[in-house]
Amino acid sequence: SNIPKIVILGAGYGGILTALRLQKELNYNEADVTLVNKHDYHYFTTHLHMPAAGTDNPENARVGISKLIDEFKIDFVKSTVVQIRPQDKKVILEDGTLSYDYLVIGVGGEPETFGIPGMIENAMNIRSINSVRLIREHIEYQFARYKREPHRTDYLTFVVGGAGFTGIEFIGELADRIPELCKQFDIDPANVKLYNIEAAPTALPGFDPELVEYAMEVLSKKGVTFKIGTAIKECTPDGVIVGEGEEIRSQTVIWTGGIRGNRLIEEAGFETMRGRVKVDEFLRAPGHENIYIVGDNSLMFNPEGRPYPPTAQIAMQQGVTCAHNLVASIRNQPLKGFEFKNKGTVASLGKGEAIGIAFGKKYKGRFAALLKIAIDLRYLFIIGGIPLVLRKGKFL
Ligand code: FAD
Ligand code: NAD
Repeated sequence: SNIPKIVILGAGYGGILTALRLQKELNYNEADVTLVNKHDYHYFTTHLHMPAAGTDNPENARVGISKLIDEFKIDFVKSTVVQIRPQDKKVILEDGTLSYDYLVIGVGGEPETFGIPGMIENAMNIRSINSVRLIREHIEYQFARYKREPHRTDYLTFVVGGAGFTGIEFIGELADRIPELCKQFDIDPANVKLYNIEAAPTALPGFDPELVEYAMEVLSKKGVTFKIGTAIKECTPDGVIVGEGEEIRSQTVIWTGGIRGNRLIEEAGFETMRGRVKVDEFLRAPGHENIYIVGDNSLMFNPEGRPYPPTAQIAMQQGVTCAHNLVASIRNQPLKGFEFKNKGTVASLGKGEAIGIAFGKKYKGRFAALLKIAIDLRYLFIIGGIPLVLRKGKFL
């Protein structure tokens, strides 16, 4: 048939919003849409710090894709993309091949380790449902091991590498979880050490200094030791080497030092910066009118020429514009340029505590924490309506 084929790779924030919008805007038989994702569920990356620390169940951070999309309108293929071949408009999956007329790439980013020796081999990352289940189980196991070998203080030393938003949100949850684990395993909380190590001269570099100070105060009170202006130089099976060669012995290193674009993108031959493609104003890869890139793999600059940080917020907005432009292309109508509407940033510091900037104002403490819950509920509503809000929503 000559119905155009649209293939969407990845059902993260960018991919799922693109799919949902296409489902709404396309008329019957206007296009064949296929959504490909590694798992048969969509997960809320923005919630993963909680199941990673064990303060929430991983089930609350995912939802089956069949519950979100209308499978009469969109074909869902559960598979892993192994290669993107723009030259022959094909995508190679682990178990087959798809051809496309239009491609949307939304496979999300990957941890950036900056070549730090041992980081890939010895540290864990907060990236997916599987990765956070591993972290949670690993942490509990260290408590169990310590009971048998109480001289091994490294079992109870936890290192978070990087004090960006991911590191800060995770260590806030972990600090909340420690007293519970100590009680469960009959361990004196004084034996547990939590380190957050940051290379830059401040935690949350670039964020509002007053809110950063507040965050560090809250977290320090919960037992977090910050090492700021201290770079991790190496990660070994025994811990990390920091600054001028100091060793912190730990069996648990969580690396939250940054993310880069997916390797699939550079392997496909696109020109990238840290794995991300500088897309045009319509979200297309340069030189490819039929390939759109959304989310963590796209690189866009604000009017002052600074790159937008890779966030769920921008990925969602890109998904909406991307779907609009796909429909416009098919109908031979003019495309719309992407304009980022910054709704603000709110980051959790554990139960009942958060910091944020929204509606041009600063927030901290309990109200900021409520704002964070509201943002999460709004997202559930956008992708799954009231039923999803009721099923997966955390209200307090
Ligand atoms: P993702 O959401 O990463 O989705 C990618 C999808 O592609 C996944 O479903 C994955 O399974 C699939 N996939 C990957 N590889 C393949 C493959 N080879 N084949 C098939 N499928 C594949 N941003 C905010 O704006 N606000 C927040 O509060 C916030 N909190 C965060 C908290 C944490 C702990 C973390 C880690 C990140 C947070 N972020 C937040 C950042 C945000 O999560 C990301 O920017 C966002 O997820 C990027 O969306 P995406 O669509 O590019 O990809
Ligand atoms: P990031 O790049 O924002 O932060 C990584 C941090 O690690 C930086 O502060 C960096 O200086 C530090 N670092 C790098 N190398 C280091 C080293 N060798 N030793 C010590 N520290 C080192 O990454 P992230 O925190 O994972 O965030 C990724 C994206 O997701 C960002 O755009 C962020 O805004 C977004 N995010 C948002 C929220 C939220 O809005 N609540 C939460 C999490 C993530």
